[in-house]
Amino acid sequence: MQEPKYRRILIKLSGEQIKGDDGESVSYTMLDFLAQEIEKVVRHGVQVAVVIGGGNIWRGNQSIERGMDTAQSHYMGMLATVINALAIQDVLEQHGLFTRAMTALKMDEVAEPYIRRRAVRHMEKGRVVIFGGGTGNPYFTTDSAAALRAAEVHAEVILMAKNGVDGIYSADPRRDPNAVRFDHITYMDALNRGLAVMDSTALTFCMDNRIPIIVFNALAAGTIERIVMGEQVGTLVSN
Ligand code: UDP
Repeated sequence: MQEPKYRRILIKLSGEQIKGDDGESVSYTMLDFLAQEIEKVVRHGVQVAVVIGGGNIWRGNQSIERGMDTAQSHYMGMLATVINALAIQDVLEQHGLFTRAMTALKMDEVAEPYIRRRAVRHMEKGRVVIFGGGTGNPYFTTDSAAALRAAEVHAEVILMAKNGVDGIYSADPRRDPNAVRFDHITYMDALNRGLAVMDSTALTFCMDNRIPIIVFNALAAGTIERIVMGEQVGTLVSN
């Protein structure tokens, strides 16, 4: 059997990705689909960590213009990510996977506190580790959490899931017929052009710490598996 190219990966899912069409904050159908996708690579023996956003429920900048304290609003966003972490944990377990949810903010009754060495140990034992609560700090995003945790647990690559977009384009492909998709782009190029890889703080962190990122279409079944098995899919962001 072919060996996977990557042994330890971190998948970044956004909250929007799991939002229901019918106004529901969490779509069980989408979660189930994502769990199937993750299951495929866990069955190859790949160690998987997941960072999930909270934008389907709350974003920190949502209430700033309404006069809410900024940090307060960001903490609400971080709590939203914990709701999503528990949702994805549930569905992964329904697929028979072993999981651990770990949070950056302590919530002993619902999840383990994030402890780096423990997270690595869980992954070595084949458990999918879900990092909730972002970085635990206001003013950051879950893109930064993905970058930080990937560095800490030595993930070989961050898989940045996008809904319906199969990589990074030179312009918005829905508006510009001349837009071209990059197979590869450097961090610096992506930063200078302001391309939608991840937010710039997170992207700079990945550049400084040499963490490769692959942007891929989360809606295309089998894509995570294809990437893990070494196919060139989506856009690679690296040096
Ligand atoms: N957040 C934060 N610190 C973090 C991660 C997240 O304050 O380390 C807050 C921030 O307000 C953000 C919200 O949580 O808007 C939801 O996260 P994010 O926007 O990254 O979710 P996504 O866009 O991936 O759904």
